[in-house]
Amino acid sequence: MARTHVSGFPRIGAQRELKFAQESFWRGETDEQHLRGVARELRARHWREQRDAGLDFITVGDFAYYDQMLGQSALLGALPERFGFEPMALQLGQYYELARGNAEQPAMEMTKWFDTNYHYLVPELAPDTTFNGGVNWLFDEIDEALALNAPVKPVLIGPITYLWLSKSHVAGFDRLSLLPKLVIRYSRLLDKLKQRGIEWVQLDEPALCADLPEPWLDAFCAAYDVLGTVDVKILLATYFDSAAQHAPRVARLPLAGVHVDLVRAPQQLDAWRTALPAHAVLSAGVIDGRNIWRANLPAIVDSLQELHAQFGERLWIAPSCSLLHVPVSLAAEKKLNADLKSWLAFATEKLGELRTIATALRDPAAAAAQLDAARAALDARRRSGAVVNAFVQKRVAAVSNAMAERRSPFAERNRVQRAALDLPLLPTTTIGSFPQTAAIREARAAYRRGEMRALDYLQRMRAEIEFAVRKQEALGLDVLVHGEAERNDMVEYFGEQLWGYAFTENGWVPSYGSRCVKPPVIYGDIYRPEPITVETARYAQALTQRPMKGMLTGPVTMLQWSFVRDDQPRSTTALQLALAIRDEVVDLEKAGIGIIQIDEPAFREGLPLRRKDWADYLEWATRAFRISASGVADQTQIHTHMCYSEFNDILPSIAAMDADVITIETSRSAMELLDGFGAFAYPNEIGPGVYDIHSPRVPGTDAMLRLLERACEVIPAARLWVNPDCGLKTRGWPETEAALSNMVRAAKVLREKLTVRLPAHAHAHAHATFKSSSARSLTPRSSHSSG
Ligand code: GLN
Ligand code: ZN
Repeated sequence: MARTHVSGFPRIGAQRELKFAQESFWRGETDEQHLRGVARELRARHWREQRDAGLDFITVGDFAYYDQMLGQSALLGALPERFGFEPMALQLGQYYELARGNAEQPAMEMTKWFDTNYHYLVPELAPDTTFNGGVNWLFDEIDEALALNAPVKPVLIGPITYLWLSKSHVAGFDRLSLLPKLVIRYSRLLDKLKQRGIEWVQLDEPALCADLPEPWLDAFCAAYDVLGTVDVKILLATYFDSAAQHAPRVARLPLAGVHVDLVRAPQQLDAWRTALPAHAVLSAGVIDGRNIWRANLPAIVDSLQELHAQFGERLWIAPSCSLLHVPVSLAAEKKLNADLKSWLAFATEKLGELRTIATALRDPAAAAAQLDAARAALDARRRSGAVVNAFVQKRVAAVSNAMAERRSPFAERNRVQRAALDLPLLPTTTIGSFPQTAAIREARAAYRRGEMRALDYLQRMRAEIEFAVRKQEALGLDVLVHGEAERNDMVEYFGEQLWGYAFTENGWVPSYGSRCVKPPVIYGDIYRPEPITVETARYAQALTQRPMKGMLTGPVTMLQWSFVRDDQPRSTTALQLALAIRDEVVDLEKAGIGIIQIDEPAFREGLPLRRKDWADYLEWATRAFRISASGVADQTQIHTHMCYSEFNDILPSIAAMDADVITIETSRSAMELLDGFGAFAYPNEIGPGVYDIHSPRVPGTDAMLRLLERACEVIPAARLWVNPDCGLKTRGWPETEAALSNMVRAAKVLREKLTVRLPAHAHAHAHATFKSSSARSLTPRSSHSSG
């Protein structure tokens, strides 16, 4: 009969035990022994769950004290030289220094794992990197697992994916040249596993689903030709997209089996079933490892019948990818609506689904009850009035292209906005949030627990807004914000007010290190029953003569940071979100808010793994943003914000979003990306972040002035704004005030320099650059820029 396994199980624990143990270890409150004990206990619990669910293997090697890529580096002995650690004697404390930095060395770089919101630590490789072996933690874990008397299948990140995701700071160095050394280390590891009595080893190669260049594909084949000579069975795991194009060459390699993602890329099945040799195992990833919906088990079983007939016990059943990306268990969800809960499956519940599929393939009658239950839940979900909202459906069907267009082109809007807003050259602003002090967080928590009355809470938040407004006025900022004291999270805050959104109590998934996020669940048609931010914005605007910027989260970010419906395309959900936000934008305008920011920090991370799929995503994502932004008059200025710096490959789409002003992250890359914006001739206004809010360090006026002058070289001063990189919620007030004060001063100094240089007769709407001799002027206004 078909066998069952998982590529990986969440390591954090149902109550985030690992997180709390890590953090108390970092604070020095508990020792290494305690942390290791908690980890051992979690591993054992998760293995028992797999064994007791009847899985044919328990998976080992998916555990990590911080991150699985860092774990792989530690196992290989490939540590960044600059730390000076001895790879084979690496201590847990040192491992955390690699991840988090120490007094001398900044942490290893962190970046997103493929198209997930999980961040891994980027291996730092150099020409002289050796892979002479590192810590033995994996082997200790294997010994623990073997004690449970179930077949143990270790999982490692494969050599090609490991190299592909690594970086070298040595110019001109081709890291692929390290492959022979790396393959030797992997062979030794496989050999050592073999000696432990291991039969199957899973090597994860999701890089095969990315756009891997030809030399890398050749290297891939060469590497596995060697690894295949070790007398242990290799299951090559691909996931997150199709690897079908590589099926013919993969099939020729000495591999014992291949795992494929049939949730993201079901169309690849035929390529694999025809390509694989008669002895090979096909692991069918049929349960969604990236989402939380209960599977359509009857349909999955039907779709596997033929495959089962062909492969017999060489058919393995698995989730599409590691279950790392879903929460641990539904058991702890006490408040969730019972219907909704019956439509969901977290990691633990997914183990049961695997079992049901395998049983049904062998003996349909034996799984009849489970299949019926799955069918009933699905039918209920399809018919539920909570999912379908006829009004929203009608509205979505009626969306026209005109709704995605502002009334006039940017140049015309810009003219009207300048007249209406009367801002100085290089207007100063912030990204939205001000420090979330302990007092603010306590007030929010007390209100949530029902310990603070609604009216008291409202007054508390209003006092915070007034405080932030007065500070901004005193600092002399030109465009103010209310400070976002009432928001815990930029998606949750809006989601809680929208129909179609639900929130779990314990639906945590890891983001990086010990940090977890709790993505809300979009289960139904999205509808905004009433205004969300309007009263707050109106209150804030009434406090000041200066323009108050309304602050919203954009449709793509709402989508990207939620668990989304699997019963309609993401693009449709994005459109529904766009309509809800559009309503809010229009209501803000009606309430007299003349500048509205629609944040889209997650716009880029929605990009598909393969470039060929980018255009489609960028099309609907851009359109969703435009629909959210285009319900207002020309005079209303729409801002957007994105906090990253890799823009150059999607600049045309950023421009197509047609925000009047975009604020972006640039300070860490010393404005490198501005070159992209300059070369592309980005048409609208832009606020390149002039200081990094991720660090408590207060930047000096001179440093910010230099960045601004660089910006002026590529973008006409008349189109530049001055702002930090991102929101200030993680900072304290003293450093925030000091930094903003320096920032405002930098803007003033540059305004003066520019007006001196520019001829007095110049026209106010010039698109000229600082250095250009034909530069013309915008005379700084004196009113509120002199605070
Ligand atoms: N307006 C939000 C803030 O200032 C934006 C946060 C973000 O970009 N992630 O906090
Ligand atoms: Zn940001």
